[in-house]
This record gives sequence, structure tokens and C-alpha cells, in this order.
Amino acid sequence: ESEKVFKNLNLILKARGYDKEVQVIKTGCFGFCEQGPIVKIEPDNVLYVRVGPKDAKDIIDEHIVKGRHVDRLLYKEPKEGKKAHKQEDMPFYKKQLRIALRNCGLINPEDIYEYIALGGYEALGKVLTTKTQKEVIDMVKESGLRGRGGGGFPTGLKWEITKKQQSETKFMVCNADEGDPGAFMDRSILEGDPHRVLEAMAIGGYAIGADKGIIYIRAEYPLAIKRLNIAIKQAREMGFLGKNIFDTDFSFDIDIKFGAGAFVCGEETALINSCEGKRGEPNYKPPYPAQEGYWGHPTCVNNVETFANIPPIIIKGPEWFSSIGTEKSKGTKVFALAGKVNNVGLVEVPMGITLREIIFDVGGGIQGGHKFKAVQTGGPSGGVITEEELDTPIDYDSLIGIGSMMGSGGMIVMDETDDMVNIAKFYLEFTMDESCGRCTPCRIGTKRLYEMLNKITSGKATMADIDAMKQLCYMIKDGSLCGLGQTAPNPVLSTMKYFWDEYMSYIKDVD
Ligand code: SF4
Repeated sequence: ESEKVFKNLNLILKARGYDKEVQVIKTGCFGFCEQGPIVKIEPDNVLYVRVGPKDAKDIIDEHIVKGRHVDRLLYKEPKEGKKAHKQEDMPFYKKQLRIALRNCGLINPEDIYEYIALGGYEALGKVLTTKTQKEVIDMVKESGLRGRGGGGFPTGLKWEITKKQQSETKFMVCNADEGDPGAFMDRSILEGDPHRVLEAMAIGGYAIGADKGIIYIRAEYPLAIKRLNIAIKQAREMGFLGKNIFDTDFSFDIDIKFGAGAFVCGEETALINSCEGKRGEPNYKPPYPAQEGYWGHPTCVNNVETFANIPPIIIKGPEWFSSIGTEKSKGTKVFALAGKVNNVGLVEVPMGITLREIIFDVGGGIQGGHKFKAVQTGGPSGGVITEEELDTPIDYDSLIGIGSMMGSGGMIVMDETDDMVNIAKFYLEFTMDESCGRCTPCRIGTKRLYEMLNKITSGKATMADIDAMKQLCYMIKDGSLCGLGQTAPNPVLSTMKYFWDEYMSYIKDVD
């Protein structure tokens, strides 16, 4: 649909003789998926939503030629019917703070000059010409940035550990193996602002002493791959990648490696195995990748969103970044808001915002006027959060405190019509399929657990089955090698905790 809109806008501009004055540019994602395709007119700062190919004519004839808004294409608030033509006036964007997503929807990701025009590669120039490696690491440490891929490990500390390793060869790896069902944060950043990630990797490479970077990206992201390839080529031509960057003795270049879509390859050691051409299975740790990673060399693995925060930290300073968020979780987090919420899309909010604000203010509440039931954060590794906890300010620690986790940013909202036992089964089916099979508790345990859930939902289970299921959950958690198995039972345990009655409604020997 967007392609047709793009084509029609160009055709009509040409027909009206405006094609020299007005440019139509494809940008990255605006985040407001529910209202897409979106056309933004600059410099007027007018956003048209749900634009179809036939609307291209009105946009050109009314807005471009006559200078009038196309009223019917402006965003209208569902409840009050108020119209907004500026992005910042829409409730969906009002509580957002876009740092990692700042350039998405703003620049042409295939044009390095647009990135440079907004301060791109300035951070790289600054660190290479004015900062020592230690100073860069200290800045990242002081900012309080934690890994956005799910673990929440302090990024500056990870860089410091990798820098301390004695080795001639080190690697900076970008984990773009986004696998949570419904999550597309990393994809959006790479499609909308690929240079930001390249710049951050080069900064990280300088800080840890690496001259090689690898982006490990799932092959199912063809547009992100295409734009990364274009960006790498442009950055090399402009001297931001390659030898003697900014005429210093620092050299750094980046290769892309493709993942085949296995969820477990988001785990660092499995990712490295896959990069080396081996089976994508996790290893026992230690040694950690920072000590022995890609082909045995110290390797720092950071997620796409983590990298996207680095250039602004360098330019605006660690104090600026650490002034946003909560005591232990600084900055913002990007969430893929999905499920039964009105405004499905990609949102970036400051840490410390409540789930209620995300779901009801940014997300516009529950679809069809239904009642909120629960929200799952942390993807298949997380847990459900109920109405009682909606006012918890969210950060890494508070989410763990209420039985879920931040994860990489998947957020699936459920309403009163959802059956929580079947929701748990859905997540478990995903982890069961994605188990790499290396260890028995995960390989066999998730299958048995899935069978037990099936027995429950088919009305054939007794209380003895429920007790056995609980025991199996803890056995899988305790006995599995990596995070996938260790967290696979979480959706079952958390739905059992909060929605016990729903489990009981299936049990034969319970009145
Ligand atoms: Fe593989 Fe599961 Fe074991 Fe992880 S826990 S190593 S995914 S079998």
C-alpha cells in the first residue's frame, strides 16, 4: 500500500509540474502502525494518516498546490473526535521521548547526508579526536545505559571488561537477531536509521580496541539488510568506516552475517557459534564472550537499541542521559505495543513511566471498549502483569519485582475475552519449537509441559496434573543451560499465579 502511495504521489507531482520543487522520500517507521500508511509534509509538520493510493491526488492538489489541509486525512481522536495535524499533538506521541527512534520517520535512511545533517558521525569524530578509550567507556558508564536486548547488563561495564582483555584481535558485534513474537524495535531502527548503529559500533570498537565489527541480523529482515548494506557502502566512501577514520590511526570496518531465524541465536554464545558457521547453540559460561568470543577472541555483543543510544550520549553527555529514567534504569525504552490495544505500534518512553500510561494514554486503551485483563512484557520469557500492578513505574528491576521482565521490549495487551491458559500455551509452544535441543530439561521438559497444558485445556486434567506441572516448571527452570529454557515456564507460572481460577475452571475434580 505504501509503495502505491509513494508511486502515486510522484506521478501526480509530475503531472502538476511540482516534481522539481517537492521531493517524495521514503523514511523509516513513524511507529504509529495503527494509523499507517503515514505521509508527513515538511516543513509544514503535517501528518496525514491511513493514506491510501487514491488519497495522493488530494494531498498534492489540496496541500501542495492550494496550501490547505486535507481534513479527512488528519488524525482524529477516537473518543473526543479532536483532530491533530502535528505529530506532537497526538496523544500517541505526547508521552513518548524519542532518543533511539529520533531519526526514524524523519530522514531518508538511504542518504548519508541526511544523517550527517542531523549531527550524524559527529559523535564518532568527537571520540576519535578528543577522547581516550577510557574516557569513552567512562561516559557510557556514567550515563547508566544498560543493555536493551533483555539482560539489562551495564553497557559501559561490558565495554570495560572487553577492553581489559589482552588480545591483538577483538570484535564488536551488533545483535540484530530480534526474535520475540511481536517485537520489531531493532528492525525499525535498522530500517529507519542504519547509520546511527554503524556510528555507535565504530565508537564501541574504538573504546574496546576492536577494528572489526559484525552485525548479526536475521535473514527475514530484507529491508533492514538492504539499508545496512547501502549505509556501510556510503560510510566507507565517506571515510567513516575503513582505515584511518577522521585521519587518526583508528581503523574499523563492519561485516554483516545472517541468522536463519532461530530464537536462541539472540543468546550471545549461540549467536557467536552461528557467526562461526556452527550450530546456533549456547555454550556454558564462563568464559563469557568478552573473554573468549568470536573465534576465541574477546568479543563485545550489544543489541541494536543499545547502540542507538550511544551517539546521543556522546554528544549530549552522560548527565543528560542519566537525568532521564529511574534510579537504576536510565534513559528510554522502545516497546512494540501489540495485542488488544487501540494504538498498536512502536513507542519509546522514558523509564519510570507506568504501564497504565503506556496502555491507556499512549496506546489509547483497549480495543472495542473491552476491559483490560493483563499485559505480557518480556516476550515468551516474561510474565503477565495484571490491573493491580498497572501503576508500577516500569524499569528493569520493578518489572522483575512484579513477576515479569523488561526483555527486549515486546508488550502484548490482553482483554477480558482472552483465555490465560491458552495464552500460556501459545508462549510455551513458541519456546518448545525454538528449543535448540542441547539440554534435556528444556528439550523434553517444554514438550511435556505443553502436553500437560493441552490436557488441561481439553478438560481431562486433575489436580494431580496441576501439581506435577508446577514441579516440571521448576525443574525446567533449574536444569536448563540457557535463558530460553530457564525462562520458558515463566508464562505458565505467572498465569497460574494471577489467573488460578481459569486453570481451575478446566480441572475435572474441582467443583
Ligand atoms: Fe538449547 Fe533450551 Fe538448553 Fe538453551 S535451555 S541450550 S535453548 S536446549
